[in-house]
Amino acid sequence: MRVPASPTNANAVADSAALAANDALPAIILSNLSHNYGDRTALDQVSFEVRPAEIFGLLGPNGSGKTTLFRILSTLMLPSSGSAGIAGYDAASNPKAVRRQIGVVFQSPSVDVKLTAAENLNHQGHLYGLTGTALEARVKEMLARVGLSDRAHEKVETFSGGMQRRAELAKGLLHRPSVLLLDEPTTGLDPGARIDLWQYLKVLRDEEHVSVLITTHLMEEAERCDRLAILSLGKVVALGTPAQLKSEVGDDVMLIDAANPESLAQQIESRFGMKPALIAGKLRLEQSGGHRFATQIVEAFPGEVISISVSKPTLEDVFIRRTGHRFWSDAQMAYSAVQSNQETGS
Ligand code: ADP
Repeated sequence: MRVPASPTNANAVADSAALAANDALPAIILSNLSHNYGDRTALDQVSFEVRPAEIFGLLGPNGSGKTTLFRILSTLMLPSSGSAGIAGYDAASNPKAVRRQIGVVFQSPSVDVKLTAAENLNHQGHLYGLTGTALEARVKEMLARVGLSDRAHEKVETFSGGMQRRAELAKGLLHRPSVLLLDEPTTGLDPGARIDLWQYLKVLRDEEHVSVLITTHLMEEAERCDRLAILSLGKVVALGTPAQLKSEVGDDVMLIDAANPESLAQQIESRFGMKPALIAGKLRLEQSGGHRFATQIVEAFPGEVISISVSKPTLEDVFIRRTGHRFWSDAQMAYSAVQSNQETGS
């Protein structure tokens, strides 16, 4: 039986709750989920499932709908239509039950930096009705899990970015949720802290069977997920494991920078019978035996090719194949470069 639970039937909700304990039940089920802000469509008929104990990525450029979906899953917002079921409960009709099942780590910090790590966790525990020695033991356990035992009684403002993010995680996991929702959790972290966080997510998945949904605009992060959905303009344009998605592109991707790309595209088509796509001023071809073909092109059209590159398909190639445009527009690239310089202080 599939969730989401029927909001109108208490028995169905109870049944689904019982089934939620069953490892076979999907952790999250989205069914034709749509959301509009006035005239603007932010999510358009999004459907997918997150399996138990998998790390599921939601990859998309800015404006693709990740935050909107995240807010619906974390019960902060109601969708315009469709449904979101989490661990057997419907997010719209049973948000309280959903909140008990989810741990949420938002992009913006939620720990109080003026309090110690332990004080933050104690406070969180009280919100979930934990008290006394049970709370004390759980706080100790979580701080140890995220490697913060020795800093438990120091104010969070003295922590590095990576440590603060781990304190956020400990807070989100204190009440033993079965589903962890993370909104761009590595934003602003240095590479070492990113690796640490990923190692911890894998421990959570493998040892505690927590299902993780992580939003990201970083390809290398999406590559680490067990499966992912790629969003573009509110629609799911691809769904699968990173390897499955890349395998559909083919063996090699060629990018050709030419003095006159339109004319070269026509010449390649009439000579070799394949039509390159013109994307952001460059010709793009998916072609096995790319290195050999690159040599053929350079030899066939002397003086026309400025540069040519051959590479293995990436998730960006999957995005281009499914949408016909690049993951980042030039404007977004410039914006993202400024952001990342600000984050790293360079
Ligand atoms: P992402 O997190 O992938 O950047 P968002 O969910 O923030 O995407 O945004 C999806 C679309 O919805 C964008 O076109 C964005 O401009 C629009 N949007 C987001 N929040 C609001 C809002 N509060 N009011 C109006 N439009 C919004």
